[in-house]
Amino acid sequence: MRYKNTYINLDTRLYHEQPPTPLENPRAGHFNEQVAQQLGWTDDEDLMARWVDILAGQYVPADFEPLAMAYAGHQFGQWAGQLGDGRGLLMAQVLDKQDKLQDLHLKGIGLTPYSRMGDGRAVLRSTIREYLCGHALNQLGIPSSNALGFVVSDTKVRRERMEAGAALMRVADSHIRLGHVEWIASFAPDLLGEFTDYMIDTYYPECRDSEAPVLAFLTAVVERTAKMIADWQLIGFAHGVMNTDNLSITGSTLDFGPFGFMERFNPAWINNHSDHTGRYAYQNQPAIGHWNLNIWLPHFMRLEGVTRETLSECLAPYEATFMQHYQQGLCRKLGLPHERDSLTLAFEWLTLLEDNLLDYTNSFRALLGLVAPDEHPYEQHLLAMMTTELNQEAQKAWQDWSIAYLAQIELVSFEQAINDMKTNNPIYVLRNGMAQRAITAAEQGQFEEVDRLFELLKTPYDIQDIATDLDSTPPNPNAPQMPISCSS
Ligand code: AMP
Ligand code: MG
Repeated sequence: MRYKNTYINLDTRLYHEQPPTPLENPRAGHFNEQVAQQLGWTDDEDLMARWVDILAGQYVPADFEPLAMAYAGHQFGQWAGQLGDGRGLLMAQVLDKQDKLQDLHLKGIGLTPYSRMGDGRAVLRSTIREYLCGHALNQLGIPSSNALGFVVSDTKVRRERMEAGAALMRVADSHIRLGHVEWIASFAPDLLGEFTDYMIDTYYPECRDSEAPVLAFLTAVVERTAKMIADWQLIGFAHGVMNTDNLSITGSTLDFGPFGFMERFNPAWINNHSDHTGRYAYQNQPAIGHWNLNIWLPHFMRLEGVTRETLSECLAPYEATFMQHYQQGLCRKLGLPHERDSLTLAFEWLTLLEDNLLDYTNSFRALLGLVAPDEHPYEQHLLAMMTTELNQEAQKAWQDWSIAYLAQIELVSFEQAINDMKTNNPIYVLRNGMAQRAITAAEQGQFEEVDRLFELLKTPYDIQDIATDLDSTPPNPNAPQMPISCSS
């Protein structure tokens, strides 16, 4: 691997250097060959032979320089003060096969000075959820952290019950969160210039060509965040805990603990059981992205040339960028040209889904069974299932809508429409029930279901033999929601 540990060259107030605290008797959970190859991990025999020991913190390769980062944040809208890596360590930074810098961050690996009341550990169920979700998002084409693999151990961790400690080697383009800047502003404001230079040079070097690199950088962060959240809305992803300490400065999905993928369409869906007010409900995500950036940007007024007015200009494109990306994506999901009539149809379609609590993923995919039934028997089956869920009144609305829709789709080439629909509407997403079945088996020492889901989610846009009906079945409309909470 080509190591490029640069965070460790920053001011020592920003982190704490320390080794991981090993897990006892670690066993392999899953190893992501694709990520390993991309990192160059597979080129190193020692890393390959000892990956379980490395992920368990039992062996730290000589080129690793583990450290815990300090950061702060706003949690559920309130200033939370200092947070930081309380159970994770940045182990190394690496240039991948595309010369892109990647952080290797080991999560669940013991106490750090930022652990506060926590135990520094992660349990198996949350580790599996994060592992499969990062993989799913990446394979869906959404910027997100991923992972090299995970291990489980005999170390006991107390939550509501005693559980097995696990560790995940997260891989992300950056682990710098909006909250890093908030920490600096509160605890070491003299470092803001140096840290901003580091962020620009490392992650936004193209902004150096601008007359005002800092403003160009801030505008780019705003833009990438807006696009990432538009991607979430389109795929039906709810992050669950969009605190400023969980948002990356690179516009890549990070720290999705209580996440969920939309099943029966309800824009007000709250997937995080601890989110009592619904602050992070699916439909609030775009506004929360704006809220987070709005509270983050003013810290940069300490820098020369940055004023309230120039910051307003950085933030102003947020809404238009989001809308453009979201609306374009919606049209692609429907195979329609990007224009006003298509958007009217798109919003009518979403209303139909909402009014009838139809499955978000299956319903979008089912439209292929309407547009080109002969080539899409599976989608025709989805369509049949969908229409049986409609009452008489809804049947009429559906029929009217589908006539208008089929007329509108005539405006683009048939091949284009089919291609857009196939590449923007997955067949498989990580439904909570799927993750839960894999977790239940893994807690009994059986990892085959994790392996199967990993394979399934590798090509989410293609029908697969290894799929079961349960992978595409939404919960019963009246079933109580599975309680999924914050950190565990
Ligand atoms: P999260 O809700 O996972 O984003 O975590 C918020 C903060 O709590 C971060 O500073 C985490 O490092 C810290 N944290 C979460 N769980 C633990 C734990 N079990 N032990 C120590 N710190 C934790
Ligand atoms: Mg976090």
